[in-house]
Parts: sequence; structure tokens; C-alpha cells
Amino acid sequence: MNALWSPGISELKPYIPGEQPKVEGLLKLNSNEHPYGPSPKAQAAMVAAVGDSLRLYPDASATALRQAVAKQYGIQADQVFIGNGSDEVLAHAFYAFFRRPGPLLLPDISYSFYPVYCGLYGITVKRISLDEHFLINPSHYMGEASFGATGIIFPNPNAPTGQALSRAQIKTIVQANPHCVVIVDEAYVDFGAETAAPLINEFPNLLVVHTLSKSRAFAGMRVGYAMGQSGLIDALVRVKDSFNSYPLDHLAQVGAVAAIEDQAYFDWATQQVVQAREQLTQHLKTLGFEVLPSKTNFVFARHHTIKGAELTENLRAHRILIRNFNLPRISEFVRITVGTFDECKRLINSIALILEVDSPQKNLN
Ligand SMILES: *Cc1c(COP(=O)(O)O)cnc(C)c1O
Repeated sequence: MNALWSPGISELKPYIPGEQPKVEGLLKLNSNEHPYGPSPKAQAAMVAAVGDSLRLYPDASATALRQAVAKQYGIQADQVFIGNGSDEVLAHAFYAFFRRPGPLLLPDISYSFYPVYCGLYGITVKRISLDEHFLINPSHYMGEASFGATGIIFPNPNAPTGQALSRAQIKTIVQANPHCVVIVDEAYVDFGAETAAPLINEFPNLLVVHTLSKSRAFAGMRVGYAMGQSGLIDALVRVKDSFNSYPLDHLAQVGAVAAIEDQAYFDWATQQVVQAREQLTQHLKTLGFEVLPSKTNFVFARHHTIKGAELTENLRAHRILIRNFNLPRISEFVRITVGTFDECKRLINSIALILEVDSPQKNLN
């Protein structure tokens, strides 16, 4: 379109993130942000680090952070790659591994950033349908189905469905595809799924990607990482150092180390979310919703009388933001981030008003 642009820019279809409006009294349940803050120790570490010499460039290879991650998972620091949010880690991984002839396999219902990277890097996509229960079927990623594939990527638990595969199921996919890199995006794994991280020493083609945005409540700091054998990590470092060799700033590195090391806070905060999720799921079911079994910090649910878009709009009038995806198969659903217990209560009461039924919480304090 624009004569000053490089070819292809006007054809890009950029990712649309959840809204971040500034409205008084707004309840934001649309971006899977953590309802509690990050570890107080992480906050204190960052405040203290403001006194460090910020005129200097940060550690380009984020050594302390790689060591903290390695310790957490019992792997080596050279099996860890750090990026500015897992979105950046994924972007480098797509560039490093998937720009080869053949399609990248991904679920038809999945994280909507994946096709965006494919558009940017000219990667061909082959979408594999979730089954009728909205689950990934591992057998659809092996044998004839994955013949000639350039790579495989899926979130586990999947987003926005919230459902997870077991580590054993992941292993069958990785094992069946030694010819290509399999990326397991574990953005939500801490809320109840099994990590595939212990498999990386066994499989040179497995890359496991994590973020501190969700379970560590660190979305504003932009920290993510990948775990894999050093052969894969080396490729990521080559791409990173050809693009921006200092991706993660000093405060983010210091805060991320402290957040990872504060196991007690992490355990507490994760448990709050998991308990609130189970309570929210029960209340939604009482209100007539079908709720997919979630292993994440959100629930994916549909109601037999009200469409996803309509519920989303009606909740907006109650100053509650949730998300609906106007996509094939899932337009009836809404994706609701799990908030604090009080926030979930406010949501349920509003939904009951919209549906003109009694709230299942009436008798609770
Ligand atoms: C949130 C999310 C990400 C991105 O996380 P950042 O680290 O904040 O960039 C990646 N993948 C999935 C599936 C997500 O839900």
C-alpha cells in the first residue's frame, strides 16, 4: 500500500492483544494476567537494583537467570535461552527452525500468535483439528500426518481451550518426529499440567518454552525462556545476537531471578488461582455453562442460551472484560481469566443478572 514500505508489510496480519483500557473499577479478566502481584522479593530486588549502575549494558546472556532456571529444572545453564517475553523466544524459534520447505503443524484452535509469525517469516501452516472434545490428538501429529513437516508447535495446556496432554503423550509426538523441532509452549503449565522439561535430555528435537507472565505474575516485565539441548539453544542465540544482543534489561533479569527463587510465594499464589478456578467452574456449571476442564489460569466455557460475543458485550456494561474469539468452532465460547475469589464472585453475580437467574453465590458471604 505505502510506497515507502518493504514488500509484504501491507499483507501482514498482526496479533491483536487483549485490551488494556484504563477505566475506573474495571475488572480485567481478558488477558490471563495473574490476579496477585509478583513475589514481594522480586519487587524488592528490582527496587534495590535501581541503585546498580544502570548506565552499563545488562548481561547479554542473562547468566544468573539462566542458572536460576537450570537449577529449577535440574538442567544445565547452556540448555536455557532467555528472551523478552516468550513471544520473543517464539519469534526467534520460528526463525531458527521453521523457515524450511514443508508445513509447520499446529492445532486449528490454538495461540493466535503462531500464524502471525508464519506470516512474518513466510512459513507454511498446516492446521490440525482438535477432536470433538477440543483435545489435541497426538496421533494426528505422527506418521503420514507429519510426513515432510518443518516443525510442530502447540501450547500445553492448549490455549484458549485450557486442556492439557500428559508428558507421556507429548513424548510420543516428539519421538515420532526426529526430523523436525517440536515446540511445546508451556505458558500455563504451572497451573496443573505436567511439564515436558524432563524430556529435553532425551530428545534433541524438543524445545520447551516458558513465560514468567502468567504463573509468576510478571507480564509487565517481559521475561520468557526456552529449554532444550544446546544444539537448539545455539541456534536461538545466533538469531538473537543477529537481531538484538541485549534483549532483557537489568531490572527484568534481577526481578526474574528473585521471582523464580521465591518458591513459597509461587506455591501460595498458584494455589489461590487453582482453588478460585475450581470454584468458578462449579458456579458457571450451576448457571448452565459447559466448562472445559482447565489446567490453566482461565476457563473456556459456553452457555446454551447466550452466545459468547453477546455475553462479552453484556459484561462490558458491568465493567468486566472477558474474551470471545470470533473463529470457527469456538465463537460460542468465552475465555475468562481466573481472578481473586472476590473478583470471581463479582463476575458470577454479573452473569446471573445478565441471564436473569439467581446467583449461585447468594448464600455465600
Ligand atoms: C501468554 C502466552 C504467551 C506469551 O507470553 P509472554 O511471555 O508474555 O510473551 C505465549 N504463549 C501462550 C500460549 C500464551 O498464552
